[in-house]
Parts: sequence; C-alpha cells; structure tokens
Amino acid sequence: MSRDRPRVVILGGGFAGLAAANKLSRADADVVLIDKKNHHLFQPLLYQVATAGLNPADIASPIRGLLSRQKNARVMMGSVVSINRAHRRVELETGNVEYDYLVVATGMVNNYFGHDDWEEHAPGLKTLEEATGLRRKMLLAFEAAEFEEDPDEVKALLTFVVVGGGPTGVEMAGALAEIGKEVLRSDFKNINPEKVRVILIEGQDKLLGAMTEESSESALEQITHPSRNVEVRLNTFVSEISARGVEAGGEFILSRHVIWAAGLKASPLTATLNTELDRAGRAIVTPRLHLPEDERVYVVGDLAHFDHDHNGLLPGLAPTAMQQGAHAAVNIKAQLKGRALKPFKFFDKGTMATIGRKAAVAEAGPLQLSGFIAWLAWLFIHLMFLVGFRNRIAVLTNWVYSYVAMRRSARLIVAPEQEMLGRRVLHEAPGSLDGARDFFSAHDEKSLRDMPEEDGLLRGEKEAQEKEKAAS
Ligand SMILES: Cc1cc2nc3c(=O)[nH]c(=O)nc-3n(C[C@H](O)[C@H](O)[C@H](O)COP(=O)(O)OP(=O)(O)OC[C@H]3O[C@@H](n4cnc5c(N)ncnc54)[C@H](O)[C@@H]3O)c2cc1C
Repeated sequence: MSRDRPRVVILGGGFAGLAAANKLSRADADVVLIDKKNHHLFQPLLYQVATAGLNPADIASPIRGLLSRQKNARVMMGSVVSINRAHRRVELETGNVEYDYLVVATGMVNNYFGHDDWEEHAPGLKTLEEATGLRRKMLLAFEAAEFEEDPDEVKALLTFVVVGGGPTGVEMAGALAEIGKEVLRSDFKNINPEKVRVILIEGQDKLLGAMTEESSESALEQITHPSRNVEVRLNTFVSEISARGVEAGGEFILSRHVIWAAGLKASPLTATLNTELDRAGRAIVTPRLHLPEDERVYVVGDLAHFDHDHNGLLPGLAPTAMQQGAHAAVNIKAQLKGRALKPFKFFDKGTMATIGRKAAVAEAGPLQLSGFIAWLAWLFIHLMFLVGFRNRIAVLTNWVYSYVAMRRSARLIVAPEQEMLGRRVLHEAPGSLDGARDFFSAHDEKSLRDMPEEDGLLRGEKEAQEKEKAAS
C-alpha cells in the first residue's frame, strides 16, 4: 500500500471502529479499517437470531458497503495476530500493515474462566456463527423431541440451560421460554409445550447485576411470570458442563442445550500491545484514550479499561464504544494538526434489557421503567441504533409479524446433510450410539461414552454388549 499522507489503521469494524472511521472522513489521512469478518454486527440483537426471530442478514451489514462512500477509507478483510509498536505495524496472517496512528477496537471474546472444554457443549453468543449454530441446535432438538419415545430423552431435549444472568442471559432465557410455547403450540403435534423448561443460572444474588435493585427485582418477577416460567437459580455456580447437561449448586440438570452468557474477556490482541492490562485483558488507557506509553496507539470500546470518570469503570456497551471510537478520531485529527488532545467524557444514555414480549427494564439517570413501556422503549432504541436502513425495515417487519402472528419467521434449519440425517438415524435406531454421535456431532463422542449406562441413548449399546457377553 503506497503512502502519500499519514495513515490511520483501525482494527475492528464493530461499534467503536466504525465510529472512528466515520469521524475521520474529512481528515487529511488515509484510513484503513481491518476486520476478520466482512460485516459489522449488531450484537444486541444476536439473541433474536439465536431464537429464530430474525435472520442473520437483518442484524449485519457488509463493512465495505458502510464505508463505500468515504473517499479516504479502505477496508481490508483479515485477521490481525499481533501489534508491533516498535515498528509501528500490525501483523496479519497474510502480511503486515504499517500505521502512523492506530485505533485498536477488536472487542471481547467468550470467557470460560479456565474451562475452555465447556465451549463445545455450551457455546456463547458473540458471533453470527454462534447465533445460527444455537438456532440450529434448538430447532433440531424440537424436531427430535417430536418423535422421541424415551421420556428422559424428551426431557433432555426440551430443557434449556442459560448460564449467566446478565442482559444477554436474561434476554436469551426469556426468548427461549416464549419460542418454546409459541412455536411448539402451533407447529408440533406431539410435544407438550408445558414440558419446555428454561433454567437461568446466576452466581450473584440478583439478575442484571449492573442495574439497580428495583430493575433486578422487576426482571426476576417478569422472567418468572407464569407466561414465561423461567426457573431462576441465584447464588449458584456451575461446576461441570458436558454433553449430558450441567452440574450446578450440587444439582445435575439433564439438558441438550446449554448457552454460555457468563463472561467475556478481551480479544487476545491486547496481549501483544506490551502495555498494562486488567484482569479481563483490557488495556488500561489514559483519559485521552491512548496507551500511557504511546500517544499513537488508541484502544477503544469493550477493549479499553477506562477508569477516569467518577463512576468507575465504564460499561461495555455499544454507546460507550461509539463515543470512544469517535473521540479517538477527534484526538487523532488534533494530532494531525499539531493541536492538544482532549480527555474523553462519557455521556451515559442509560441501560436496558428486554425479557420478552411486552416485558423489559430500562433506566436512564433517575428514570426507571419496567414492563410494557420499557419494552416499547427497548424496541424503539434498538431499531434506531441498528446500522443500515434495509436492516431497520427488515427487523421492523419481522417484529410486527411475530407480534401479530405470535410466530417466529426465521425457523429454517440450515445444516450439513449428515447432521440432519443424524436425527433420522437416532429415531430409526433409538439405542444406536452412531445415530446419537451424528446428532450431537462427533466431538461430543467422549462425553456420550462417559454417560451412565442407564442413559437412554446408550441403552441399545448396553443391550448389544449384554447379548455379546451371553453369546460368548
Ligand atoms: C449478545 C450481546 C448482547 C448485547 N446487548 C447490548 C445491548 O443491548 N446494548 C448495548 O449497548 N450493548 C450490548 N452489548 C454490548 C455491545 O455489543 C458491545 O459493547 C459493543 O459491541 C462493543 O463494541 P466494540 O467496537 O468495542 O467491539 P465489537 O462490536 O465486538 O467489534 C469488534 C470487531 O473486531 C473484529 N475483530 C476481532 N478480533 C479481530 C482480529 N484479530 N483481527 C481483525 N478483526 C478482529 C470483530 O470481527 C468485530 O467486528 C451486547 C453484546 C452481546 C455479545
């Protein structure tokens, strides 16, 4: 890449990276935005893709398209593996890109707190791939439950466990409870919707830990309301997750569908910045958002540990990321013109979480809302913040459809044929480990083998072994 003028490299096309790029549109500099995905993702609506309310394309927009009209911006798709501050360059799997100023905004990844092996049984909700994977698993579980004859297996297929009672966990649990009732009632003939169990596990003594007591209590009341009936386990820690289910607080919950919403940590890129990090791996930034030892490297959004306001660490939310991305750009423009840098001031727009149809909590300064009004506010704000006009129309149409028709529009199962076939094999030969292996995918094999012998899935294998023994 040739260089006639200063180059600002932005890593990450999320809320912070895009805001930085947009704010630099009139800067006398070349802007290069690098992202490992080709799309900007509206993460707040990911749970609706995971629960078949929205299509993936409704909440994502190609980054190239979003910046196509910005003359000084170029987009590069690639995964950055390290940052070399000494040589002012970022290193990708495919080569290096030099910078004069750098904005690091690569966000967070799921954190399993040392239990990385839980990931295969309890995926998180951070990417479109994870959301569509969860959707597929949920819909396949319903398909399997429709014809399953073993009551224990039906129970496992219709039990959903969400680990983590923050906004993502609460939203996911509420939506699962509703989809179970809506879709099962109308589309399936054999499954009793009353049999769907959604269990929400939280280590703290309240849901939505970052919100006020009133909002937390209201969220608990709304999510356990008989229309949803989510079983909430507070003060409960998960000790094991396997293909069979979850062990938490001394109880074993048989479940084929576990979702991890219990924690995030910084993208591994910060480890290469050679700067002080906090416990979650976030870079500790100055009030002006750059690294203490390098005025040319800014870290913004979820990845920044910013603790200079009076209210403590800033929340990892989209408004924080957008404001910080834009502010880093303002400071880079000042540097390009030789002017003084300004400290970042956060404008708190409040927090909200939706729980389900006509149920939510919201707080902004002294204002506290719950129930229907909070839900309307949630819908409106999320629609406004969604990037792209086409997406807003698509999301609005889907919401109106599901509100009026009480149905979810995105219920297609898109899976490799083998995975679909696995379900059939499972039913043609209910005791066959091969069928189960296809269905729960090959990497669950070990856990399936570890199941107690009385488990329905292994019954056929046990019988076969007994026959073999008798024969010999
Ligand atoms: C399920 C969920 C629900 C949420 N709900 C809300 C909500 O209701 N309201 C709210 O305000 N906030 C919500 N948030 C938080 C909000 O989404 C984040 O605070 C925000 O996305 C942070 O923006 P960011 O730009 O820092 O990071 P991100 O938006 O995560 O963007 C990071 C970008 O960096 C890219 N990237 C990562 N690693 C690399 C690499 N090595 N090389 C190249 N590119 C890379 C990624 O592909 C991504 O595009 C939610 C988050 C989740 C996960």
